[in-house]
Amino acid sequence: MYYSLFEIFVLGIGPSSSHTVGPMKAAKRYVDNLLKKTSWRSVKNIKVTLYGSLALTGEGHGTLNAIIYGLLGLEAASVDLDHDYIGECKKNKKINLNQEHEVSFDFDKDFVLEKKIFLPQHSNGMKFSAYDAKGKIVLEETYFSVGGGTIARSDEMDMRIDREPYDVPYKFDTCKELMELCQREQMTISEIVLKNEKSLYRNMRVQKGILDLAAIMQNTIDRGIIKDGILPGGLNLKRRAPSMYAELASKFVENDVDALTIIDWINLWAFAVAEENASGGRIVTAPTMGSAGVLPSVMRYYQRFAIKRSPYTLEKANVVFLTTAAAICSLYRTNASISGAEVGCQGEIGVACSMAAGGLTAVLGGNLKQIENAAEIAMEHNLGLTCDPIKGLVQAPCIERNAMGAVKAVNAARLALQNTNSSHLVSLDSIIKTMYETGLSLSSRYKETSLAGLAKNVKC
Ligand code: SF4
Repeated sequence: MYYSLFEIFVLGIGPSSSHTVGPMKAAKRYVDNLLKKTSWRSVKNIKVTLYGSLALTGEGHGTLNAIIYGLLGLEAASVDLDHDYIGECKKNKKINLNQEHEVSFDFDKDFVLEKKIFLPQHSNGMKFSAYDAKGKIVLEETYFSVGGGTIARSDEMDMRIDREPYDVPYKFDTCKELMELCQREQMTISEIVLKNEKSLYRNMRVQKGILDLAAIMQNTIDRGIIKDGILPGGLNLKRRAPSMYAELASKFVENDVDALTIIDWINLWAFAVAEENASGGRIVTAPTMGSAGVLPSVMRYYQRFAIKRSPYTLEKANVVFLTTAAAICSLYRTNASISGAEVGCQGEIGVACSMAAGGLTAVLGGNLKQIENAAEIAMEHNLGLTCDPIKGLVQAPCIERNAMGAVKAVNAARLALQNTNSSHLVSLDSIIKTMYETGLSLSSRYKETSLAGLAKNVKC
């Protein structure tokens, strides 16, 4: 199934696409349904029940706040990050659904966290229930946040997405099909994606939309580099990007030459975005929020250090990078998962690394086989990566993991570009299948539940 670039790269409020973006969308959709389809004026009270991973790590991940935003009818672009919506809700014990209908809502009682119950369809389940004055249910719906900010209602879970498959001119499910398409049509992966996007968004300037996303991603780096302070949530981690930047800047002024300085820059850019995300900033999912630092960092790498080796102008390179990365993500979403709660961190940092490696290889003029090889190498060395965020916060190991993912993506692209005999043993399709099987066989303790791994062994 084809996933559009504009549903892969989505603006949202951090720190987690599955735990904030998805739940916020689900809450908004539920309220829309409530107000459209029911006798909503009779609704007096709302309850929200979170299950499994959402219940276990939802507080640290900001899920409860995101649901409040959604119930208020807000979208990522319209949230005023300086406004204390949560404080107001807690104080008044009320919530104004979609800014149209005020009902009682006690933040401490009306969020029910079912930490031991994992709904069979997915570990990120949430149930919304609206009651009238007699306690009778007016509307009850269960949603799942299935990764990357995508949601599905319980009756839509077979499709794993709340829409029918897109009718695009170039359909592909596997990398083999995508490569055959490219060869038959004599088009690059980027050109295939651009044609598909233009058929989906006839009234939109697709190229401009992609460049806007690239600019937002890069602006996030620039914001994160200068913001100092302690990250929220209780781990008391200090933001590191400003001091990393100061050190790099002074090395530059002092002409302190170190052959590996480029790695420090890649680390810095990934940290800047990941720290913005950890503090609940406005972020583009790439493919998730926890892993949103990898792609912008690799993009900044070629913009600063490798554009001379690219056959493209900077603007065109940004389009080629994001379209190629989107096609790779579409393969993972079709055949595996990008949800840490379903397949562990290999589905987040691993997929981001794979997308960035493929995108960078395309920007540096790699051929089809080399792009596939880079995306495959990047995932091959993330297989089995667990998701065990300490205290359920998207901070440790997540922030450093973005830096490691970005550096690994650059290395994977270099290995693929040096492989000029155009053959390699492991295909991208086989690694995606392996990643999915590995993810399904991981214990749920290692899949965004904070019950094992670092979350268990690091005392704080
Ligand atoms: S460990 Fe990985 S998958 Fe889990 S929250 Fe952190 S970045 Fe996301």
